[in-house]
Amino acid sequence: MKITRIETIPIQIPIEPTRATRGARGSHLTSPFLLVRIHTDEGLTGLGEVSCTPGWSGEDQVTAAHIIARYIAPRLIGENPTEVERLTATMRTAVANNPFTKSGLEIALWDLLGKSVGLPVYRLLGGPVRDFVPTKYSVSGLAPERAAEIAAWAVAQGFRTMKVKVGIEPEEDIARVRAVREAVGPDVRLGVDANGGWSARTAIRTIRRLEEFNIYFAEQPVPDLDVAWLSDVRAHVSVPVMADESVYTLQDAMAVVRAGAADVLSVYIGKGGGIGPARKVAAVAEAAGLTCTIGSNLELGIANAAMIHLAMATPGIGAEEFPCDILSPFFYEDDVLAEPLPITGGSARPTERPGLGVALDEEKVAHYRVG
Ligand SMILES: [Mg+2]
Repeated sequence: MKITRIETIPIQIPIEPTRATRGARGSHLTSPFLLVRIHTDEGLTGLGEVSCTPGWSGEDQVTAAHIIARYIAPRLIGENPTEVERLTATMRTAVANNPFTKSGLEIALWDLLGKSVGLPVYRLLGGPVRDFVPTKYSVSGLAPERAAEIAAWAVAQGFRTMKVKVGIEPEEDIARVRAVREAVGPDVRLGVDANGGWSARTAIRTIRRLEEFNIYFAEQPVPDLDVAWLSDVRAHVSVPVMADESVYTLQDAMAVVRAGAADVLSVYIGKGGGIGPARKVAAVAEAAGLTCTIGSNLELGIANAAMIHLAMATPGIGAEEFPCDILSPFFYEDDVLAEPLPITGGSARPTERPGLGVALDEEKVAHYRVG
């Protein structure tokens, strides 16, 4: 089997206005994503999604399409798409950075490998280490009353774990977490995600005050510029510290481990450039006695499917203790999948269909296509 053509489709699906997320890095109001279709000479097609967030990695649907067409497609066309590991290395050297763009192609390669042998991706990765993937909700950094309403709504949807966006203004952050705790009661597990919005000093002081509300992790309390800042915070608070923005690559994960900067790593399909790189980050965490969760930048269905396969088959992802952010169907008005994934409030499951197990609804793709 050989790759004959790589097609990219810029799309944008509206976010339900009352769900738009606000955090320390701004508000996520639109998702200018890129669908990827890898065509082959045997008629099989691999599906991928570049779920890029410009404020995170500097990628958007225009840069992603350009990088693929100009630098990566010429290196992949004519190659055997089932040689996923080798082609991942090819992409790494074809152009620097742009991990979310590369991940859109990498998951399409996994999709093709699965389709070519008739197995779902999680079985190719070694099979299930859990029956389903526990998931959590993310409560936007809004005014306390509004955040409390959203949290109560999330409980009604079935979520028993959630995180609250903080890192915006300490007093307001504390008021928000207090309101959410009062709304959800004592039995819902609550973490906080500051998206790097606090200084180390503010983080230490604020996290200590938040302990009153029984928070069980503090995600990316300080900016991602120096892991020593994260280590400082971790040395002075008792709740587990999670590194998200600080960990993109395998080497980032190693640096966090060496610095003793975190208890939990938040892995994404996008940050490292695909499912394979994310599994390596999880293995580093496992070797160091840490655990991982899966974070989100509001992926659409194709990337959600990839996240589910990753979590199903990766022991280094401790989804029972730190449920994954496979939550975007609760944020979007629609998706481009022909059939929605089995994602509910609190759990996500893969399908048994080959590859990623998803198909596109072509009418919806045409409807949400932009530019
Ligand atoms: Mg995060």
